[in-house]
Amino acid sequence: MSFNPKISQILESDDEIRAILAAPGTELPPLLPALAFALGDLTLLPEDLWLDPEKSLEEQGGWDADQQELCREIAFEGIKRLRSGEIRDSNFTKDDLRKIMSWACGTQLDGAYLEMLREELSPENQDLRAPDWSKEDYTVDRDFTVAIIGAGMSGILAAYRLKQSGVNCVIFEKNHAIGGTWLENTYPGCRVDVSNHVYCYSFMQKHDWPHFHSTQEVLLEYFNECVNHFGIRDDIRFSTEVSSAVWNEDSGRWVLELVGEDGEESFICHSIVSAVGQLNRPSYPEIDGRSSFKGASWHSARWNHEEKIEGKDIAVIGTGCSAIQFIPRVAEEAASTTIFQRTPNWLMPRPQYHK
Ligand SMILES: Cc1cc2nc3c(=O)[nH]c(=O)nc-3n(C[C@H](O)[C@H](O)[C@H](O)COP(=O)(O)OP(=O)(O)OC[C@H]3O[C@@H](n4cnc5c(N)ncnc54)[C@H](O)[C@@H]3O)c2cc1C
Repeated sequence: MSFNPKISQILESDDEIRAILAAPGTELPPLLPALAFALGDLTLLPEDLWLDPEKSLEEQGGWDADQQELCREIAFEGIKRLRSGEIRDSNFTKDDLRKIMSWACGTQLDGAYLEMLREELSPENQDLRAPDWSKEDYTVDRDFTVAIIGAGMSGILAAYRLKQSGVNCVIFEKNHAIGGTWLENTYPGCRVDVSNHVYCYSFMQKHDWPHFHSTQEVLLEYFNECVNHFGIRDDIRFSTEVSSAVWNEDSGRWVLELVGEDGEESFICHSIVSAVGQLNRPSYPEIDGRSSFKGASWHSARWNHEEKIEGKDIAVIGTGCSAIQFIPRVAEEAASTTIFQRTPNWLMPRPQYHK
């Protein structure tokens, strides 16, 4: 895994480039805006290939065979120019970037949306949300500690931002490890259901995600690498649950009650960031007889890996995001799979979902 790697020199021959462009796994639509950005050349984005947002989730953006071929030709010329050492024109403007992103999104973007995309995709490899202030600018000596509750993706980021600003913080995590959602959910087929390039920190982009929608193990590894990279692991107190937080008006401090492996203790701090998430306490349905049911039963967020599925009759209650991911895997092994659905939900076909 690598973060924001330097772009390596293109050493492939013409034939090799053509073969890569023709390979079935090559995703064509993002190539042209990427090349237009790298070279600062908007002529690489022809009108004929303007993307249709309604088809954006289809394979190759819904382009027909001729459009795909046209894209390959344009991309081939662009890649050759990059290979020869050509770089982006210094006259490249923000409006040029807006045009490139408009083409990529298939709609004319205004300035505000462009700013959001710039932050999300970080095309210049910059941390655009990094704090532009430091505690030292205001006070050097004043003791100030922030308690962050939770070491999922939100708490990790909060800790990093505070570190960037020179503010002392401690993270309390009830689990033995970081990751929150991506630590606790281990059901078969668990993976992110938005594209990985947006489901990561904008300033910690990875160019070698193994899948469009990476699996739980990969995401957990990513967040662990982030924690190491940010240098915040020693600031996390694992297996420590915050059971209450009370503001003391007289001292102007928060008093946290902690429950850890060594028992209970109090912790005093100046400020709190709640990063407790909203989906890490499984919700069990109130179904008559649930507690007296004699068969094996478990919640998807607490997957029972001991129990064999093979050859069994399995009932699944619910058809939300987790169920959609594990039902096909369960159905492959079970003798029968019966799904109980209260409310139908919307789904879009996603051909690259498992690629
Ligand atoms: C199975 C699943 C799949 C998902 N897929 C997607 C997806 O594809 N795309 C998407 O955008 N979102 C998805 N989500 C939503 C997901 O929750 C968020 O994307 C994100 O991971 C939330 O991060 P977080 O840090 O806010 O919360 P969490 O990941 O829940 O982390 C919160 C942390 O706080 C800790 N904590 C809680 N209370 C306390 C306490 N009192 N004391 C100490 N520690 C505490 C928890 O142990 C946990 O580690 C998914 C959620 C689930 C459950």
